[in-house]
Amino acid sequence: MRCPICHKTVDPDESSDSLPFCSMRCKMIDAKRWLCEEYAIETVNEDELEKEILKSEEFQSEEDS
Ligand SMILES: [Zn+2]
Repeated sequence: MRCPICHKTVDPDESSDSLPFCSMRCKMIDAKRWLCEEYAIETVNEDELEKEILKSEEFQSEEDS
């Protein structure tokens, strides 16, 4: 498999802690990228995000009963 960040070949047995990334460094780069994207979505589509939260809350209460 290949690291999604730097495209270096990753041996699954070697770096189980950072899979599917080659290293923790690449894992952190990816996590940061996701955080930035989520933040961007939140600011652009705040109403949509609120709807999604309400939807998931409804689903949870349905599961409880
Ligand atoms: Zn990498």
